[in-house]
Amino acid sequence: MNVSDDLYQEIILDHSRSPRHYGCPLNHTHCAAGRNPLCGDEYQVYLTLDEDGVIRDASFEGAGCAISKASTSLMLEQLIGKHHEQARALFETFHDMVTNPGGDHDTKVLGKLAAFSGIWKFPSRVKCAILCWHAVRNALDGKTTASTE
Ligand code: ZN
Repeated sequence: MNVSDDLYQEIILDHSRSPRHYGCPLNHTHCAAGRNPLCGDEYQVYLTLDEDGVIRDASFEGAGCAISKASTSLMLEQLIGKHHEQARALFETFHDMVTNPGGDHDTKVLGKLAAFSGIWKFPSRVKCAILCWHAVRNALDGKTTASTE
């Protein structure tokens, strides 16, 4: 346990206790469900893209464990204001960080999402951390459900 582990735990706890961008919006242009039956995580994510393909608003609702909730909250914080191509690129970087610990990750791009950099040590929790990322990608692709199974 080092200083950054403590800080990362603090970030995850904070976002799991008081998730940002939680709730169902009045309007959205894209949405998808994310389900992780192994853990029981079930969410719906909503995105609003403008005509240039920039994510102007994003929110989520549902229930699940602290990891999935914190990951979704932190993810949406990062995605709002980004072009959907940037969002897809961030998905790849995050996915690589949580599944390939030996990789050369640009944590500057990830910001607070680096809080999940140690999650690969807990393979069953990786699905929790990545669940709503899959949902966002599916929403952008026009698919309405994402499952870790
Ligand atoms: Zn979970």
